[in-house]
Amino acid sequence: MLIRPIASVVSCCALAFAAAPAFAAFYGDPPDSTHPWAVHDMNRPQPPLVTPGTFSTPEQPGRPPSDAVVLFDGTAASLSQWEADKSPAEPTKWIVKDAAMQCVPGSGYIRTKESFGDCQLHVEWAAPEKVAGDSQGRGNSGVFLMGQTEIQVLDNYNNPTYADGFAGSLYGVNPPHANALQPPGAWQVYDIIFRRPIYKNGQVLDSGRFTVMLNGVVVQDATPLEGGGGHKGRSKDHPLAEKGPLKLQDHGNPVRYRNIWIRPLPPRATDGGDMGAMTPEAATAKKLEIAKNLRADAEKLNGKPQLLRRMEALCYEQDAATVNQVLTGITTWITKLQKIPTGQMEAQKGDILQIRDALKYLMQFKFLPDDFKALAQIVQIIQSNGWEKK
Ligand code: MG
Repeated sequence: MLIRPIASVVSCCALAFAAAPAFAAFYGDPPDSTHPWAVHDMNRPQPPLVTPGTFSTPEQPGRPPSDAVVLFDGTAASLSQWEADKSPAEPTKWIVKDAAMQCVPGSGYIRTKESFGDCQLHVEWAAPEKVAGDSQGRGNSGVFLMGQTEIQVLDNYNNPTYADGFAGSLYGVNPPHANALQPPGAWQVYDIIFRRPIYKNGQVLDSGRFTVMLNGVVVQDATPLEGGGGHKGRSKDHPLAEKGPLKLQDHGNPVRYRNIWIRPLPPRATDGGDMGAMTPEAATAKKLEIAKNLRADAEKLNGKPQLLRRMEALCYEQDAATVNQVLTGITTWITKLQKIPTGQMEAQKGDILQIRDALKYLMQFKFLPDDFKALAQIVQIIQSNGWEKK
């Protein structure tokens, strides 16, 4: 069976955007109070390039994506990234055997030395091939994000238990949407997307959530954390630290792990990032930054490119100085156009249509005064040359 890391499909976008035309300004809906970029804004940063990973097979774990933090690669050396949870000064007693990290029952949880917050986590695990025990006693372990919230690891192949304790459950909170397990002894694959709770001034902005795929099947779909769950007790929303270690559970069964890697995820707008709608304050700050950069860039240009760059800056900040520069620049440009003999106007057609479109855009969204007469003058030039019908 092919086991495909979900990160292997995400890297096509950067090349597609790189090929997009550079004149996307004055195109999509403009920046607004909570979105600092226009729709299809070329000033929005390009996605970083990531070389995708490869599939795992039952015999061979796949290769992680290029930007992943590899937490266990099958070597004894990579076990040094982990420590005993209860006695961190001591190395874990878990062992590496046949390129897998194996829980030694009674040795306690292990945790990473490094801490993580929001992340994409890839973990492969296998319950013992020889079945022993039942319900919660068969092939039990667990993946604890930030050391606190458990995605259950359990051999539920022909092994009923309480639903919110199944493999792939957010333990004690939500059962998996499906039981997509392979038989005991086979490698099972978790791809987990974790978002921690975000609080501000004691108020919850985002209660946090889990998305989990088990062997490529979605078993948690942005499931609210509800405090992260636990044994017997109903948990409630509460803040977590920004980061915490990844922990794996010793529940008394020799569960094996391989191919563990993690990718920190970019912060949400609710966490000071720029993913999604931002606060008006953050969006304004970003717009001012973009406008400042565009104005600085305009100073290095001349003629039409300079005019267009200044017009572009007005989409983010309508400062009086730039408005005046643009109004003056367009008026001066039209005066020059009007002196060009009719027979030589064709060479100016592209520039004229481009400035017309930019001007229409800025006036439509009130970034320039809508009583500016220049647009009518440009339209008149276009129509008198027969470039567009009335
Ligand atoms: Mg467990």
